Amino acid sequence: MPPIEVLGKNTKAIELLKKLVGFDTTSYNSNLNLINFIKSYLASYNIESTLIYDESGKKANLYATIGRKDVGGVMLSGHTDVVPVEGQEWNSDPFSLKESDGNLYGRGSADMKGFIALVLSRIPEMVSIELTQPIHLAFSYDEEIGCVGVQRMLDLLEHQPIKPSCCIIGEPTSMEVVIGHKGKHASRVKVKGHACHSGQAPFGVNAVDFASELIVYIRKLAREKAQNGPFDMDYEVPYSTLHTGVVKGGTALNIVPNFCQFDFEIRHLYEEDPQHLLDKIETYAKEDLESEMHLIDPETGFSFETLAKYPGLLTAPGIEFVAYIKELLNNDTHSKVIFGTEGGLFQKRLGIPTLVCGPGNIDQAHKANEFISLVQLQKGGSFLDRLIMSLSVP
Ligand SMILES: [Zn+2]
Repeated sequence: MPPIEVLGKNTKAIELLKKLVGFDTTSYNSNLNLINFIKSYLASYNIESTLIYDESGKKANLYATIGRKDVGGVMLSGHTDVVPVEGQEWNSDPFSLKESDGNLYGRGSADMKGFIALVLSRIPEMVSIELTQPIHLAFSYDEEIGCVGVQRMLDLLEHQPIKPSCCIIGEPTSMEVVIGHKGKHASRVKVKGHACHSGQAPFGVNAVDFASELIVYIRKLAREKAQNGPFDMDYEVPYSTLHTGVVKGGTALNIVPNFCQFDFEIRHLYEEDPQHLLDKIETYAKEDLESEMHLIDPETGFSFETLAKYPGLLTAPGIEFVAYIKELLNNDTHSKVIFGTEGGLFQKRLGIPTLVCGPGNIDQAHKANEFISLVQLQKGGSFLDRLIMSLSVP
């Protein structure tokens, strides 16, 4: 049995999680109710928050520092948005936390309001203890649509005279230390064709056909990556991948379609710059395919748009920060994961050592009946307790 005091703190974490899950912060919604709740919660402990809004003013990042401002300290980072529940069959209301069989069910419970709730539950300790190194809270919006929101927070942090010394992203890793993940580049391709009656097909430019040729080319590049690498054997899929996920085009079978659109993504190793793959794809479209399309109609062709992108994360396993966190966790192992986080951006833009470590399992994220187990919550809580203690030692 953990000491009563620890149970008490985790009861507070569960109460806070209940509150956080109750805010429907699906990425297409405003997150301001949640952010204002956290802001006033922090204010009740005399902690000032900085809100960094998006252009619409309907979403915001929250940044706050607990403790001194003249030294680096540890940044605890999490995103406040969640993925949609539409089309999923939930056994209970996804926005009302439900406890059953030692698990807490609700959208965002694992990814990643559980971590945020734990961090908030430890605020009383953070303010009552004398921290020799500060703790920074960095809570973002629009992570789930491609790490979009955090960029504005980084614009601010980048120019601070004293930056945090290191960063922990509390994404669900079952409290394992994660030192790396791949980067991602998501693109939308629009193909403008030339419509005509399908009986006159050769007089038109079939947008679906030309889109398909480019999709097949992307598939060919994917095969080449699988065969020739580069490789990082720490990953389940040890090479960069390319994949087309959505295709839309055509209106009727007897019309040569004048429009087609598809989305593809590259999930690349940290050491691989996706730009050379994007260049190849664009060159093939512009030079090989468009030259054929323009024989019929020079107005036809391809256009490319970046939907989202974030860099990969790779933290050297041998550095002091990794050893320090492993010691707090009493676990000497580390790994790399298949999912992306904001970690690569923190590492790249602030130049600070970053790792991913948080309660809950990614297997339960993004699905119906998402949950975090009480065991994971407890593990995450004890980690934070040890972290806070370690930051109070001179
Ligand atoms: Zn997440």
